[in-house]
Amino acid sequence: MRTFSYARPGDPATAVAAVADSLEACFLGGGTNLVDLMRLGAARPAALVDITHLGLDDVEETPDGGLRIGATVRNSDLAAHAVVRARYPVLARALLSGASGQLRNMATTAGNLLQRTRCVYFQQIDLPCNKRDPGSGCPARDGEHRDLAVVGHSPSCIATHPGDLAVALAALDAQVQIVGPDGPRALHVLDLYRLPGDRPQQDTVLQHGELITAVVLPPPAANARSTYRKVRDRASFAFAVLSVAAVLEVREDVVVDVRVAWGGLAAKPWRARSAEAALRGHRPGIDALQAAFETELAEAEPLPDNAFKVPLARRLAVHTLLELAGEQS
Ligand SMILES: Cc1cc2nc3c(=O)[nH]c(=O)nc-3n(C[C@H](O)[C@H](O)[C@H](O)COP(=O)(O)OP(=O)(O)OC[C@H]3O[C@@H](n4cnc5c(N)ncnc54)[C@H](O)[C@@H]3O)c2cc1C
Ligand code: SF4
Repeated sequence: MRTFSYARPGDPATAVAAVADSLEACFLGGGTNLVDLMRLGAARPAALVDITHLGLDDVEETPDGGLRIGATVRNSDLAAHAVVRARYPVLARALLSGASGQLRNMATTAGNLLQRTRCVYFQQIDLPCNKRDPGSGCPARDGEHRDLAVVGHSPSCIATHPGDLAVALAALDAQVQIVGPDGPRALHVLDLYRLPGDRPQQDTVLQHGELITAVVLPPPAANARSTYRKVRDRASFAFAVLSVAAVLEVREDVVVDVRVAWGGLAAKPWRARSAEAALRGHRPGIDALQAAFETELAEAEPLPDNAFKVPLARRLAVHTLLELAGEQS
């Protein structure tokens, strides 16, 4: 592991300045992803700026009935929070489906959103990988791509975002609050991520030195139901092969609101926007659901070993919404 310096500032402005001052500096949350990558040589920062003492570890209700989650709130604390469990079950379930109890005790909200892909080539520094070493090539296309993207990928990279939290936040229309050298800004969680295009090394639109300070959830509709389902190779302690986060509001047997995001399909959570539009105002019956998600996934471009993800994504979405609709009837 490369030698690095370590600083533990006490306020966000000092942390931002410390990272912005050096291109080789980066923020350290729980360290469960970053330190792993440093050990493997896939990340080589010269300076770590620990952000776990900035006072960003509160979960607070907002005046409009939503929730503001500090960037360094631990995944286990967030999953156990009474308001999250009662009003945002999709979020609690997504968090509890991730990693292990020990990891969730360390992992932070922002760190989870910014963890890097689990593509096996990314972690092996003796092999080419455009994301780790731009211009070196992408061996995954002709190699191990069973867990990788089927939509939104490019010739440069077919990696997926591996996390569960971002998928739930995408279905909840969460906003990410950021502070950087040029001041504060806020983004819809989906706009935080970028598709690979010809710059796969850049996972997000964050500029160097920008710090995520919080995630803000809008208030849930009184009648809405939500859940998270994850398909994985083991019952626990495994990343998603595919996952779905769904929020559904049905009134008098008609869909008033529906929001669906898949994990494991792309470099970002994938919102099923056209299926959502097709379902609003209609009965949530199996035929309508199947047709909506079939159309949604018609543009998918799977590779030989991950083509199974397309029908799996459709079935997972259909059955998850049927389950939610059943709970509401
Ligand atoms: C064996 C194993 C299994 C796992 N399984 C799952 C799983 O099933 N589902 C899942 O979702 N995750 C899983 N994980 C990943 C784990 O959840 C992440 O490692 C963790 O969430 C990262 O959070 P952290 O606080 O430790 O981030 P760190 O490792 O500290 O940081 C990650 C990145 O985020 C940046 N960063 C951190 N905070 C900020 C901030 N506030 N602003 C700007 N940049 C910031 C860091 O600079 C770094 O680049 C697994 C990990 C392991 C090791
Ligand atoms: S898919 Fe992306 S992360 Fe994986 S080898 Fe190709 S460029 Fe690297």
